[in-house]
Amino acid sequence: MPKTVYSVRFAARQEIFRVGDRGYNAYFIEDGQVEVSIDRDGKKVVVAELNAGEIFGEMSMIDDAPRSATVTALVDTEVIVIERSRMIKPLSSIDPMMNLLLRIVLTRFRNSQSQMSGLRGALGEDTKSLDRIRQLAFDRINAENKLRGALDAGEFEMHYQPIVDLPGGYIAGFEALIRWRKKDGGFVSPVEFIPLAEETGLIIELGRWVLETGLRDQIELARACHAVAPDRPAPFMSINVSGVQLSDMAETRILTDMVSQSGAVPEDIKLEITESLMVENADHAAEALTKLRESGVSIAIDDFGTGYSSLSYLHQFPLDTLKIDRAFVINMEKSESAKRIVLSIIQLALALELNIVAEGIEEKEQMETLGDLGCQYGQGYYMAKPQSFADALALMKSQPSWPPTAANDEGGQHMLRSVGGG
Ligand code: C2E
Ligand code: CA
Ligand code: CA
Repeated sequence: MPKTVYSVRFAARQEIFRVGDRGYNAYFIEDGQVEVSIDRDGKKVVVAELNAGEIFGEMSMIDDAPRSATVTALVDTEVIVIERSRMIKPLSSIDPMMNLLLRIVLTRFRNSQSQMSGLRGALGEDTKSLDRIRQLAFDRINAENKLRGALDAGEFEMHYQPIVDLPGGYIAGFEALIRWRKKDGGFVSPVEFIPLAEETGLIIELGRWVLETGLRDQIELARACHAVAPDRPAPFMSINVSGVQLSDMAETRILTDMVSQSGAVPEDIKLEITESLMVENADHAAEALTKLRESGVSIAIDDFGTGYSSLSYLHQFPLDTLKIDRAFVINMEKSESAKRIVLSIIQLALALELNIVAEGIEEKEQMETLGDLGCQYGQGYYMAKPQSFADALALMKSQPSWPPTAANDEGGQHMLRSVGGG
């Protein structure tokens, strides 16, 4: 995978780019100092000196125009390079009016820069807000760079949460959930870094790694299941796939190839997607999902009922499973209407011949109620938290059942084995 963000060092007095150069990259100064200069009547005029935490070269990145100044390292300087390709998606997706404004501001700025003697004057009282924007951008690029580094350093791991067959009480499958454990011991929730990975495009590489790991571990879990309970169906593996990964047919094909080359039984693999994919571009979604289904994998709709809740797509797309969001399950015990909603979703799923998984079961009563309502599968802290692959494998081998029987209960604790902030 080509990288769109990386660090480069420049020696003292080395030129980073010249006036008139085609500008492809912007730079954040990580360490060091640079000088920005323009040529006026054959004489070099220094318009700014920039230090760590400041950005330069950003204008060409936005409007693709030649460089309007020369930038030279004053001391040994380390910069984070942000390639223009990194901006193509954000630029093409911003509001057209916003895009226009950006370009007008840039044009005026360039004009004033070429007319005036110094850049500092041109910035005037706007420096404060520019500083703020710069700080925000810097924090963001830093976060992106760290995410990239974490992927290279192998700081991500997959955890697995059992999905229980409610009538039978045994493990029917697992959901693969990513974890980022930093080298300093810190833990970052996927809720924080998945959106960043999606915006920056890093989700493509990360998503491939998630799929590859999930496929490999499913094979092991299925093997363990077969060894201890040969009559039971192999546990399926439910893997979260971001809409960004499926927005490109070439990437969709790469994902299906990965499944077919993994050695896993495609029918044992479920891909979890959210409603937004189908709502944003229905035609494309239908094509991508059909392609996935042809490869044998199943498709689950995650967080059902929280997003656009358009029922119309349910029969338009090749879906297999509905996952009822945790919010409904939590309220089910407290409110009769929430319970009725759950019942309707279950009935809807049954009518459409879809499987149904209830998420976020934290109490025994919730599990029992869902079972009584005809819900086929359940997932939640009451049964088991997401756990490391080794723990999930041990759990699979121990053949737990829910509600726990005296033989496998150990005081309920095997169920609550928890790793990594699930
Ligand atoms: P999700 O797909 O809805 O995943 C379920 C989340 O609910 C998980 O949080 C899980 O740990 C948590 N959970 C499970 N049972 C319970 C329960 O009984 N009570 C409560 N309070 N929570 C429960 P997690 O692992 O933090 O993941 C959060 C979200 O991050 C996921 O929501 C999913 O949208 C995203 N995500 C996680 N892993 C991946 C991944 O590998 N790829 C992608 N694209 N997204 C992922
Ligand atoms: Ca999910
Ligand atoms: Ca969910």
